Amino acid sequence: MVLIDSHAHLEMPEFRRDLEQVILRAKASGVEYIFTVGTEKKDWMRALEIAHSNPSVYAILGVHPHNAKEIDDQTYPTLRGLCRNEKVKAYGEIGLDFYRNLSPRGVQLKRFREQIGLARELRLPIVVHDREAHQETLEILKSEKAEECGGIIHCFSGDYEMAKVCIDMGFYISVPGSITFKNAESFREIVKKIPWESLLVETDAPFLTPEPFRGKRNEPSYVRYTAQKVAEIKKVSFEKVAEVTTENALRVYRLK
Ligand SMILES: [Zn+2]
Ligand SMILES: [Zn+2]
Repeated sequence: MVLIDSHAHLEMPEFRRDLEQVILRAKASGVEYIFTVGTEKKDWMRALEIAHSNPSVYAILGVHPHNAKEIDDQTYPTLRGLCRNEKVKAYGEIGLDFYRNLSPRGVQLKRFREQIGLARELRLPIVVHDREAHQETLEILKSEKAEECGGIIHCFSGDYEMAKVCIDMGFYISVPGSITFKNAESFREIVKKIPWESLLVETDAPFLTPEPFRGKRNEPSYVRYTAQKVAEIKKVSFEKVAEVTTENALRVYRLK
């Protein structure tokens, strides 16, 4: 039985103290690969370092919508260079966060468009972050021809209609630990309907810790609780969820 954590943030300070143990625990729980996402300049090298010193870790690099306002003349040339590294498997996370609005909305929209263009140039799939900006996210994915690079809508929070549009564009829908939360009934209904071939699981560690550890720091080994909940919802075995989501992750990140 093998699982993949399609999205985590191992370079964040929450893991500085015990990263090695975290990676070992993931291995011990069957997590074969972890995709760590460097979301801003100060994290890119660290994400790459972790990927290089751990055969089970790959990197994803880009500028998060929270940090969109920090993009300057150096940003894209730097990313263009770093992303040619063989350990980088996707571009992201990019998108829109109209919940926290840490960068002005206009800046987020502009930088999201530009970064889809960069990912297409680099021929990398994109990892999309969309929080309370579903309509705008869909509009930009369409107008920037994101179907040409494809990728993942991570921590999916839209409705089934949105999932369908994204899937038709060749995107995968990634399910985080919040699927285990008591109040996530409508999300579980959506996941129930999402076809197997488009489904991934992720932790987004150190955030979004699934039950029964909600409130503590999240880590990649906990992706099994998310997979277990998906198995429950879809009334299949845990092994089936592990097998299909692993297959899908290997496909979208082009590891096979
Ligand atoms: Zn995100
Ligand atoms: Zn993330």
